[in-house]
Amino acid sequence: MMKKPFVTKAQVEEIVKNFPTPFYLYDEKGIIENAKAVYEAFSWNKGFKEYFAVKATPNPVLMDILAKQGCGFDCSSETELILTSAVGASGQDIMFSSNDTPAREYVLADKLGAIINLDDFTHIDFLEKTIGKIPETISCRYNPGGVFTMSNQIMDNPGDSKYGMTKDQLFEAFKILKAKGAKKFGIHAFLASNTVTNDYYPQLAGQLFELAVELEKETGADVAFINLSGGVGIPYTPDQEPNDIAKIGQGVHEQYDKILVPAGMGDVAIFTEMGRFMMGPYGALVTKAIHEKHIYKEYIGVDACAVNLMRPAMYGAYHHITVLGKENDPCDYEYDVTGSLCENNDKFAIGRKLPKIDKGDYLFIHDTGAHGYAMGYNYNGKLKCAELLLREDGTVKLIRRAETPKDYFATFDVLDYSAKINRILDN
Ligand SMILES: *Cc1c(COP(=O)(O)O)cnc(C)c1O
Repeated sequence: MMKKPFVTKAQVEEIVKNFPTPFYLYDEKGIIENAKAVYEAFSWNKGFKEYFAVKATPNPVLMDILAKQGCGFDCSSETELILTSAVGASGQDIMFSSNDTPAREYVLADKLGAIINLDDFTHIDFLEKTIGKIPETISCRYNPGGVFTMSNQIMDNPGDSKYGMTKDQLFEAFKILKAKGAKKFGIHAFLASNTVTNDYYPQLAGQLFELAVELEKETGADVAFINLSGGVGIPYTPDQEPNDIAKIGQGVHEQYDKILVPAGMGDVAIFTEMGRFMMGPYGALVTKAIHEKHIYKEYIGVDACAVNLMRPAMYGAYHHITVLGKENDPCDYEYDVTGSLCENNDKFAIGRKLPKIDKGDYLFIHDTGAHGYAMGYNYNGKLKCAELLLREDGTVKLIRRAETPKDYFATFDVLDYSAKINRILDN
């Protein structure tokens, strides 16, 4: 399938008159349509809720768009909780799915009334000591160990992951939590990441539904919700078939009717915590070609670098690139597309077939709406870029300004150098 940018070269030429490259651009229309499709796919389940994984795209304007579609938020840190609170979410619209959790974060999550999802058995005690009680609604994260396979293919390796409780611990946890006053229980599991198949959620749901039936039977705990968490993927490469959320919802529905309903558990709510699927395709990093270099390979240097988008450097992740205005040109050149970090892994593409790129061309780096900007860092003292929203009416709104050197140096305010730096910056 051909990947089509959600802006044209002419639109970007207009945008750069106000906002220089590089920048992230998000597509409001795409975000809304997709969120509606998610809710439609699970409309058969009365309590369904998508808790958007804030870590994927922590921007309050984008979060607000999702909140208006009915989404809650999945947080796993203090600042994510603060941001979510600023967007206006509170109480059970917040899921706190953290791990290795500092005490102060449990305190804040409790203050906001968030649903706390315990990552570990030992956290029962830790939570109780920290907030002085066990909340009435509580969730536990499950890790079945081993490998997660689908159609005999290994999808991921839960046995190697740090998250969740073993099955025995989970049963024990429910008993203890119940004895300590918990009334409504949730089960959570995240067993495979970026799955580009319609079968992941249904298979995970089947596993968790059976577990829920067993748990209710053995512990008497009232399972109120089952949280399928994240992991629904997107096709980063043009040859992949996108997930069909309607089919995914239907697949989960079939498992629900097969396992939960006959067990008298037809009132269990389904929760999801998707990040990538909600936002990934609806964000792009737009960057300009500023240099070309001809040595043993052909290089195009752009004005963004791994600080703006770390996934290629970190995971060797593929992100499709469209050279705007050259959508229909033959891809008869082969380039490494690089950023300016003093790190040889700072490459957005390696040996990529692309049309001839000229200095000044705009590159649209696809599918960076989730885990893109958010993963940014400041290596080499490089600064993070702006985030822009392409609204449904075609206008563009600045939803986060680019960092300036002042931002970068702000934490030196404890030193004498601070005054010197500020003098240099102000000159
Ligand atoms: C990262 C994360 C998610 C979102 O994962 P995606 O792959 O973006 O869907 C959801 N829940 C938890 C607990 C996570 O850590």
